[in-house]
Amino acid sequence: MDILDGLSADKLFDSGTGYTYDDFILLPGHIDFTSDDVSLETQLTREIKIKTPIVSSPMDTVTESEMAIAMALLGGIGIIHYNNTIEEQQQMVKKVKRYKNGFINDPLTLSPNHTLADVDGYKRNYGFSGFPITEDGKMGSKLLGIVTKRDMDFISDRSTLIKDVMTTDVVVAHEPCTLEEANQILKESKKGKLPIVNKKHELVALISRNDLLKNRDYPLASKGDNKSLLAGAAIGTREDDKERLDALNEVGLDVVILDSSQGDSKYQIDMIHFIKSQYPNIQVIGGNIVTITQAKNLIEAGVDGLRIGMGVGSICTTQEVMAVGRPQATSVYRVAKYAREHGVPVLADGGIGSIGHIIKALSLGSSAVMMGSMLAGTEEAPGEYFYKDGVRLKKYRGMGSVEAMNKGSAKRYFSETDRIRVAQGVSGSVVDKGSIQRYLPYLIQGIQHGFQDLGCRNLSVLQETLYSGRLGFELRSAAAQVEGGVHGLHSYEKSMV
Ligand code: GDP
Ligand code: 5GP
Repeated sequence: MDILDGLSADKLFDSGTGYTYDDFILLPGHIDFTSDDVSLETQLTREIKIKTPIVSSPMDTVTESEMAIAMALLGGIGIIHYNNTIEEQQQMVKKVKRYKNGFINDPLTLSPNHTLADVDGYKRNYGFSGFPITEDGKMGSKLLGIVTKRDMDFISDRSTLIKDVMTTDVVVAHEPCTLEEANQILKESKKGKLPIVNKKHELVALISRNDLLKNRDYPLASKGDNKSLLAGAAIGTREDDKERLDALNEVGLDVVILDSSQGDSKYQIDMIHFIKSQYPNIQVIGGNIVTITQAKNLIEAGVDGLRIGMGVGSICTTQEVMAVGRPQATSVYRVAKYAREHGVPVLADGGIGSIGHIIKALSLGSSAVMMGSMLAGTEEAPGEYFYKDGVRLKKYRGMGSVEAMNKGSAKRYFSETDRIRVAQGVSGSVVDKGSIQRYLPYLIQGIQHGFQDLGCRNLSVLQETLYSGRLGFELRSAAAQVEGGVHGLHSYEKSMV
């Protein structure tokens, strides 16, 4: 069917001018469903499906374990940055993978001869307050009891031995048992923890009541095998990054992003070959790229996903300094269309400043968006809030900023031999956005409304409408862009909900 009004994406992006999200507007479609009917399920990579098309950026002011856990619980995924030691990054991925399990297969355990001070130390380091007690203090040995907050609340002498306070008549489940059976026992026992034991009464796993409750609360959660949350991490393309990847693989990494501002390099291609042959269970997202030729090279090397964007991030000065890059809407449309023919999903990375931009990025063929500045002001982002001019802020900085490079991230932007570093990013601050737990559902709902206005119930309908030429686009003049924003008021307030 011919398009009745506006331009098809092909016509718009064939003009030779590069466009970005604000340059165009989408024309409405026909609505015959409610916004709640809209499904945002999407393909993050060839093999991984998620229910919310939002990814948090691997930056040290955006994604560590807290952000990654919250993102995954709400159906997206967080990519943990690598401006840290291998051990630190491994620990962060481990926290995500351990966060919400059906069965906790490697619970922390103590022996009866440990003290309450040891329990306090575990609690401080790991945040849990209940621990199974086994004969030799390790997993796999005989279960003797359990120690929880209530066993030791009122004991001031922290050198007291666990064996003197632990609960010994523990409700347990016997192996083999399904998650449903174990959950049922937990519900009936009204306890907080349920150890699973084998015939010899040796501890093989643990189930937590809080996980049961969380399961109910997060129907969109992004999970892998064994019900653990999906974890992603970024690495570079140097020899020592192989060691890093090995450490991340050990703790169950699901997807790795090869982090480079210009991804079409021999180093990245070699790394893709290496990962695909050594770690076939890990999905690889390559990038960053903005042209079809770059995409072709990485697809031929075997990537499972592509990350698009060069010099368009809010904190980024690449286009200014290097004179290389591309306006983001053009990059996304061109690369996504090509990658689709090869079954490779793409991530639109950078330059997202509103819900409208997310909808536009998806309408141009991306499967998900990656965001930094939009998420850096939330509670789950690393760092503390501070006040400036009466406004509550959090720090947000480019990974190519002098400040981040001084902490170690120079690898992404420079070769080892560079003696003088030219920064490709700035360091700044963003406004408090509250918790991801409220902010992400708000974004999701906004996107659902946008899809409804377009007359598309899900991403595959949207992409089908786009590629058949029926999705109507129109360029906006400078005056139209002013008209499309708030205008003509003396003053106004913008609140989130
Ligand atoms: P607690 O009551 O403070 O001990 O902790 P919860 O039972 O609420 O568990 C907190 C989260 O940590 C849950 O999602 C658990 O699945 C997870 N977890 C992972 N490993 C362990 C572990 O070794 N012990 C405990 N207690 N929880 C663990
Ligand atoms: P934002 O969502 O803030 O617009 O953009 C985030 C994206 O900017 C990141 O995912 C990453 O691709 C890119 N980025 C992060 N730090 C820098 C930097 O210092 N320089 C450049 N050129 N890009 C950066």
